[in-house]
Amino acid sequence: MLAQARARDAADPLREYRAHFALPEGVIYLDGNSLGVLPKATAGRMAGVVRGEWGEGLIRSWNSADWIGLPRRVGGRIAPLVGAAPDTVIACDSTSINLFKLIAAALAMRPGRKVVLSEPGNFPTDLYMIAGLEAQGLAERRLAPRDRIADALDGDVALLLLTHVHYKTGEVFDMAALTRAAHEAGALVLWDLSHSAGAIPVELDGCGADFAVGCGYKYLNGGPGAPAFAYVAQRHHAALEQPLTGWMGHAAPFAFSDDYQPAPGVGRLLCGTPPILGLSALEVGVDLVAEIGIERLAAKSRALSEFFRTCLDQAGVALELVSPPDPMQRGSQLSFRHPEAYAICQALIARGVIGDFRDPDILRFGFAPAYVSFEDVAEAVRHLAEVLETGEWQRDEFRERAAVT
Ligand SMILES: *Cc1c(COP(=O)(O)O)cnc(C)c1O
Repeated sequence: MLAQARARDAADPLREYRAHFALPEGVIYLDGNSLGVLPKATAGRMAGVVRGEWGEGLIRSWNSADWIGLPRRVGGRIAPLVGAAPDTVIACDSTSINLFKLIAAALAMRPGRKVVLSEPGNFPTDLYMIAGLEAQGLAERRLAPRDRIADALDGDVALLLLTHVHYKTGEVFDMAALTRAAHEAGALVLWDLSHSAGAIPVELDGCGADFAVGCGYKYLNGGPGAPAFAYVAQRHHAALEQPLTGWMGHAAPFAFSDDYQPAPGVGRLLCGTPPILGLSALEVGVDLVAEIGIERLAAKSRALSEFFRTCLDQAGVALELVSPPDPMQRGSQLSFRHPEAYAICQALIARGVIGDFRDPDILRFGFAPAYVSFEDVAEAVRHLAEVLETGEWQRDEFRERAAVT
């Protein structure tokens, strides 16, 4: 397995990029889908922003370092990764807050309709944000399993809100087909791209999507709690009204007017003062992903996850795969079901193999293609096979649940 892996690494067109990431010694990191690895350039950029732009430039840096333009600039760099025109994406707030703004905006665009349709088992924050608007009397939450979503799209549905790549299983929705179905029913569509952006190609404009949100700290390597992004299709820019009408989303924030006038386009999605440190770190991560290119990343991601399955076969490990077996039908991850998934995950972490556990019984391995190597995959499978063979996961220390899993 190892020889095979090394041969694949030697032939990997992305192999040079691993050196751009600060991977800790002795760690095989298969959790870039939860928190991407630190790009080496980020520390230098942060030092420059902190000491130079903040320390020396102080308030002048809003202009001289273009802090004021940063949310749009970073959004413009994310845009091509998700198949969007540059002025349709902005980097701001968290994914949860962007969901709130865009769900509310969509509801306002469909007067007379209140239903926000999603699927049970969608990422919790997506479902909770709908519930919050429901508690305010503004929305009505409807959940339909994936094979019945098309049937649930009736004349009451204002918005279809789905996560493109499922966080647990990695299953990918057919964005073009579902967007079409929603539009035929007179509904708008909001895609959560948290597990797509930077991992697999997305064609927001091409699919005719209305809105999208996504995470900055997963495959975009923006760092813990990095700002998220939001997309609004060009055709909705003039009509878009979102309820968090803070001064930074004003057309002229420094006119200090008593009355709110939304900024043109996605600029009106801004609320308060943008987090410059976080956006600066995110820009480094996004630039690196953009430099590699999404097609090459996706191709390597598929090769890595398929290699993981080949290694499992060769090692004689039989685990129940819950991700689609066809790599074109899944994101950049493989998930397996095992009743002792938590303890197995902990035993692997103790060996330096970091994957993650998703309640109640999912063992999840993410293959961030920018820095994960085939050797990482072969070694991870070797450790997994050993953990299962030796029953090492049965130790008490691996079964105690931590607060953050
Ligand atoms: C990670 C993730 C989020 C995270 O939202 P935050 O506001 O950043 O906590 C949202 N949606 C999905 C589908 C995710 O995977």
